Amino acid sequence: MNLSELIDLILEIVQMPINYLLSPSKRIFLVYLLTSFLLALFVFFRTKEKPAFKKYFLSKKRWFGSSAIVDYCLIFFNSAVKVFVISPFLIFALYIAEGINDYFIETIGPSEFALSSTTIIIVYTITIVVVNDFFSFLIHYFMHTIPFLWEFHKIHHSATTLTPFTQYRIHPIELIVNNIKGVVVKGAITGVFLYLANGNVSIVTFLGVNIFNFMFYFLGANLRHSHVKLKYFSFIENILISPFQHQIHHSSKKEHFDTNLGSRFAFWDLLFGTLIKSKNVKELTFGLGDEDKDYNSFSKNLTSPFRKLFN
Ligand SMILES: [Zn+2]
Ligand SMILES: [Zn+2]
Repeated sequence: MNLSELIDLILEIVQMPINYLLSPSKRIFLVYLLTSFLLALFVFFRTKEKPAFKKYFLSKKRWFGSSAIVDYCLIFFNSAVKVFVISPFLIFALYIAEGINDYFIETIGPSEFALSSTTIIIVYTITIVVVNDFFSFLIHYFMHTIPFLWEFHKIHHSATTLTPFTQYRIHPIELIVNNIKGVVVKGAITGVFLYLANGNVSIVTFLGVNIFNFMFYFLGANLRHSHVKLKYFSFIENILISPFQHQIHHSSKKEHFDTNLGSRFAFWDLLFGTLIKSKNVKELTFGLGDEDKDYNSFSKNLTSPFRKLFN
């Protein structure tokens, strides 16, 4: 690798998180941050005993304290992991999809479904959102219940203050696991629907669909990682995880550990008996409790899982 290639790579790594702010497919797209801020204003003005406006929105400790600094460092470090380790493998979703489509055509012949392309895209979108969410839940469940995986997932839970950027605070090993899940689930479902569409919908159209993500992000998904107690009506919290329910997931209290593991939908938690609703929780502190001191720097977050596993 020569010098100019190296500079290009470094630029690509640095630009990736900045591009997140400008990309509608990312949760921290500036428009979604703005709609989240408007929702936060709504919650703030409805809070009875509210702190000062400046303390609520512009706390220096929250945005620039040691926990937030770790979040920022991990965003850039994980960009490098994406560029070097993950990006080359994303194409596998395409191979898996085409492989499954070809396999069906060879074994059972061309699809005879006469569904319109609109119907297929709608059913595909719902299927991918629900199935992907289920596997996200399952992986998250294992991250909490298998001690070896928990050591890596602790990094996400070691945040003692939450900001929208905390969603990127994950150990590179977890990032890789999540991406493998994404590639396999997306590839497999796209393959099945590619077959059902019988050439009427292109693979590019399938992979570009994400209206549900748009709604999820637009409606304050960024507040999941924040101190803003946005709660839903109790019955809705059986179906969708509210921002406050995810904040309970980050609680340092033992009784809240391993609860609200869902990503978008709450019914997986209901099914697995791990759901807690907002109305049952009052005050929260975030983090791992006694263990926080082991994760108060960027390097400790990267190395602690290995150190603890080898001890
Ligand atoms: Zn978790
Ligand atoms: Zn979280």
